[in-house]
Amino acid sequence: MTASAVPTPMLSYRSWLPRLTSRVLLDLRIWMMGFGLLIGLIFPFAVVPLGVAHDVALRPAFFAATILAGLLVGAINTALVQMVVGVRLRALAVSMRRVEVSLREATETGDWSSCDPASCHVPVDSTDELGESADSFNHLVESLAASHRVNDGISAIGEALAAHLELASLAESTLHELTIRTGIDGAALLVVNAGRVDLVGSLGIRDASGLADSDAVQNVVRSHEVRVLHLPPEVTVTGTVVTFVPAEVRVLPVRHGVATVGVLVLAAARPMDREAVAVVESALPNLAVALTNALNHQDLQRVAALDPLTSVYNRRFGVERLKEEVARSQRSGDALGLLILDLDHFKSVNDTYGHLVGDQVLQSAVLATRQVLRDGDVLVRYGGEEFLVILPGAGRGDLTDMAERIRRSISETEILTGGHRLSITVSIGGAGLPDQVIRDPAELIGIADQALYSAKATGRDRSVIA
Ligand code: GH3
Ligand code: MG
Ligand code: MG
Repeated sequence: MTASAVPTPMLSYRSWLPRLTSRVLLDLRIWMMGFGLLIGLIFPFAVVPLGVAHDVALRPAFFAATILAGLLVGAINTALVQMVVGVRLRALAVSMRRVEVSLREATETGDWSSCDPASCHVPVDSTDELGESADSFNHLVESLAASHRVNDGISAIGEALAAHLELASLAESTLHELTIRTGIDGAALLVVNAGRVDLVGSLGIRDASGLADSDAVQNVVRSHEVRVLHLPPEVTVTGTVVTFVPAEVRVLPVRHGVATVGVLVLAAARPMDREAVAVVESALPNLAVALTNALNHQDLQRVAALDPLTSVYNRRFGVERLKEEVARSQRSGDALGLLILDLDHFKSVNDTYGHLVGDQVLQSAVLATRQVLRDGDVLVRYGGEEFLVILPGAGRGDLTDMAERIRRSISETEILTGGHRLSITVSIGGAGLPDQVIRDPAELIGIADQALYSAKATGRDRSVIA
């Protein structure tokens, strides 16, 4: 802000002339008329030593003439003060009142675009005290407008933070609002969760994927302290993640209590001004609370979606996912595969070795299945020892192939538990789209279940695709 360049004025300017009325210009008029009168009275006595005859100078008519002349000069001076200074002061007062109206409107509407120097400044057209007063007023208005802009920025960012519970959408809207309110060119938000630093969103940055592992971010996570990198304009940073040459990069810890729950990276083509820094710093505590809430929400969502024994998706979440995938496949015509796994003779594992061993066998079967799944495949615990595998994009060939790979992976797994070495087999039924024509996802499960029944009926440890 330019306000910082304004020198602090001296506070006491006391006049040695006493105030006569409540109006400064009226005081001035009285002083000038009085001074004119005084000159008129003294003048006759002053001219006697200069050679004017005593009886002429002290004649009542001469007295009357000099007093009149003194009063006339006083009156002319009074009129001149009114014309030169009074008019200016009045114009200044009118301008200030106009600025006050603009300022109040901008405060009420939150639209500061109309409060530009043309409408929110008074003219400064003299280099004396009047000009100084106008200039000080303009600085005051600027500071006031800046303070309002900072407040508006903080509340807009606060609203964005309060409106989202999901990490990704929280990051998106917060970064959007931050860049608008501060004029920053690029920003990224990273979250620190259980010692891991992950990128949750970025704006105006070409490739932010390397940020989480960057020294700057890791240092901030360790030290909990802000890092500001000022880069001279001639420095072109090759391989930086931003699409422009930043003059300043700020890496800020988002702190909740003593913990750093996130890192905000801001990159600006010009060094950030005090206003932008104030907005960002005031937004940080709210961002910390919002990030913590979003992380807790994410954890809750995860816990609600997972099966506690095997940590794969539970039936409720899995069936929802299947519905989404079926709808997507029906919309796009892309293939979708579904497998149902059922461990063979699992009851006898429980009966022979006990329930705890049975649990470990279930966990081992899940691990063996996971080893052969690809990214995007979804493993679901459908019931006791029954699992679904949702395979987006898998045609009939892939489905047969995947069923066999899972079956082999499970049967080849040796489970060492409680001093026992056991192995288990699985039967698998499969069905897929668009091979099957179905009206709702439960039908696809039903068809796969029929295939599973065939696998069981024909000897177990095998896969059958409908
Ligand atoms: P089949 O080859 O016909 O599938 O025989 P099965 O014994 O596997 O069939 P069944 O469905 O009769 O038995 C499933 C057993 O799985 C019964 C139940 O005790 C056991 N089970 C279900 N959930 C769990 C669990 O969470 N832990 C353990 N240990 N056992 C479970
Ligand atoms: Mg079963
Ligand atoms: Mg079984």
